[in-house]
Amino acid sequence: MSSSRVGGSATRPILRLPAVKPPRFIADCNVGRLARWLRALGYDASYHAHIEDAALVREAAAEDRVLLTRDRDLLKRRVIQSGAVRAIHIRHDEVTAQLRQVFAELGLDIEQSLTRCIECNAELEPRQADVVAERVPPFVRRTQTRYSECPGCGRIYWAGSHWQHIREVFAGL
Ligand SMILES: [Zn+2]
Repeated sequence: MSSSRVGGSATRPILRLPAVKPPRFIADCNVGRLARWLRALGYDASYHAHIEDAALVREAAAEDRVLLTRDRDLLKRRVIQSGAVRAIHIRHDEVTAQLRQVFAELGLDIEQSLTRCIECNAELEPRQADVVAERVPPFVRRTQTRYSECPGCGRIYWAGSHWQHIREVFAGL
């Protein structure tokens, strides 16, 4: 039986992602690895190996950066308590858990941050779920709604696969 669908079928579906200004970060001395990972994910993350708390907070305020720290005392500063400087108290030891916390607290999507194919460095193109449905495992299909495809190698990316690749690529950091 031939298809009798009317129009539209030739249109290549493009999922448009909202253009939200990405947050910028400043990392305290105790979360240096986190800063490197954020940079690897495309984020502007300031980090100084040695910096006074006051200077850290000042830079966060002056440059509108989210302050990342494991230091509870630092969070008691008035400028942070008042909300003038946004800060996140990092609760985890492990850097991927730290990243997950930051992404969760700021409502960021990991798949929006990863825009490049890890295998061939081409810029990924967003794909709608129904377009890639037959090319991803069933468990992925059930749990993921947002996908990207590499125009270079055809690899399909979703949040889970991204995290797996990140772990592999940055295991040695
Ligand atoms: Zn690729």
